[in-house]
Amino acid sequence: MEINAGHLPENQHKITAFHKAIKPVIIKSGNKMGENKHEWVERVKKITKTYPIMKNICIIGGGACGVAAFIELFVQISTQGLQDQLSITIVEKSKKVGYGLAFGTTEKSHLLNTQAELMGIFADEVEHFSEWLNDNAYRTRGRVEEENGDIDHAYTSRILYGDYLHEQFVSHLKKAKSTGMTVNLVCDQAYDIDAEEGRFLVKLKEGDPVESDYVILALGNPEATNFREFQPYSHFINSPWPAHKMLEKIDKKAHVGILGTSLSSIDAVVALMDHGHEGKITLFSPEGMLPRVQPIENIDVERSYLTLKNVHMIKRKHFRAPKVKELFRLFMRDVENVEKGPIDWQNQDRVGKKAGYYLDRDIELAENGGDSILNIAYSLRYDASKLWSWLSEEEKSKFKKWLGPHWGVNRHGMPLSNAKRLKELMDKGVLEIHAEIGKVTPNEDNFVVEYGENGQKTVDNLINATGSPSKVKDMDCELTENILKKELIHPYSSGGILVNELTLEAINRSKVSGIYATGHLLNGMMLDVNAVWYNVKSIASLCQDILFKARYGENC
Ligand SMILES: Cc1cc2nc3c(=O)[nH]c(=O)nc-3n(C[C@H](O)[C@H](O)[C@H](O)COP(=O)(O)OP(=O)(O)OC[C@H]3O[C@@H](n4cnc5c(N)ncnc54)[C@H](O)[C@@H]3O)c2cc1C
Repeated sequence: MEINAGHLPENQHKITAFHKAIKPVIIKSGNKMGENKHEWVERVKKITKTYPIMKNICIIGGGACGVAAFIELFVQISTQGLQDQLSITIVEKSKKVGYGLAFGTTEKSHLLNTQAELMGIFADEVEHFSEWLNDNAYRTRGRVEEENGDIDHAYTSRILYGDYLHEQFVSHLKKAKSTGMTVNLVCDQAYDIDAEEGRFLVKLKEGDPVESDYVILALGNPEATNFREFQPYSHFINSPWPAHKMLEKIDKKAHVGILGTSLSSIDAVVALMDHGHEGKITLFSPEGMLPRVQPIENIDVERSYLTLKNVHMIKRKHFRAPKVKELFRLFMRDVENVEKGPIDWQNQDRVGKKAGYYLDRDIELAENGGDSILNIAYSLRYDASKLWSWLSEEEKSKFKKWLGPHWGVNRHGMPLSNAKRLKELMDKGVLEIHAEIGKVTPNEDNFVVEYGENGQKTVDNLINATGSPSKVKDMDCELTENILKKELIHPYSSGGILVNELTLEAINRSKVSGIYATGHLLNGMMLDVNAVWYNVKSIASLCQDILFKARYGENC
């Protein structure tokens, strides 16, 4: 039995006492094991009960998910009085916790895509951020986009939310330490994990490895890897973040091309405009669809068809998983039910159509509470992940290919203020959006982008705003590459890694337990990993599982 005091200075006295108690038993048992094994085991049990061995939980990644995991573990550990048995180590490669890629941008126009009332970082307290904002908006940096003082439905600059996360982390770290809990923050990059005899060694670039009994992978959103061949070209920018890196490379009069038409591309457009860009901007993507526009307040709609009850009935009656086609038909019936009649679904399909026309329409709709398609999608917020978990791997891949882009633009719409800015730019002829992106040819100082039947544009700079890769093998991350090779994690066919859906524990071929994951790494198994509210909710179950196992053992 091995004890390591590496990361547990505060409990040294306990460890020494434990050593003193256990040593004679070990020595004695060494000699006479045969005779009185039962008595020996009972004595060890009694001693370990008196001096429980401290187990360490290592959270890798200090973004929104890492902060949520730390705070929820602290809450659960302190409410169960387990401070003597469980310690936490947070490993974050940047100097500051709470920001990450999502909420570290200092661009004021980089807004949250979710209303404040859904961004609370504490489990079961989803409104905490808007409550905090009510008391703190005056002292925050960044913008609070609200109508008539309605903070709950406000969209804030993401940096403001990052500051909130950082503040919550710092205050709860202090509280944890004041309760005698062992918590360590290590600013370093984890690049590998060894698994030995039920424990883990998290290897760091700079410092000593962290010994742990449980590991939570909260690694966030890795950078895009789909246009690696363009990286050698200085006029190619592989990510819109951090914005200053992008802006440094672009002349104000340049014609900028952006790959992607989702929220990430809008981040690039508003940052360029906020820094006085004068040249043209052209967005390219396969579908050419912009995110829809989030109403200040959605109209509440009742779903009668696409409900958990109806879909469960399909499973119960046909003894099989539901099909994407069935779910979409139920969705269509709910929309027509709200619209009180049939609608022209052909016309709803925006792929390859004039994005400007739909943008105008969406701004009008958003100012009037949104339309039934947007509101039904919105009303599915809390049921979507369960419906998703009922789909087979094959059906999940089918959904991603067929309905994924449509679901994305409806479920992750843009705030009204950014929509109006895009409209202004399109009306002025500064901004164009093209679908059916084709071949992209790099030249010495420009790129030629083909699109549609015979469309072609020459742009001076090209920004990759297509987002993080879905498949774990395409993720540019040394840590996941290494633990994938060791089969400590297993890829999931429709993206990310395979986990137990209820506990988020990684399922792997080496049958090693104790590694958990959250956020983008679960983008195949889980539907809403790009939403804080969903990650916070699922992280609470993850923490519960770790504590249960720490208390009652692995096989309980
Ligand atoms: C640009 C952008 C905007 C978004 N906006 C919203 C929004 O408005 N609302 C919303 O709900 N969701 C938003 N999301 C979705 C977001 O992904 C999720 O909300 C998620 O919860 C973000 O937190 P995270 O901790 O998973 O990721 P991140 O914010 O990416 O944090 C991951 C952290 O892990 C650290 N890290 C990574 N690898 C290592 C390693 N090997 N060793 C040590 N540290 C490491 C990184 O430095 C980083 O700090 C956005 C996502 C992006 C990319």
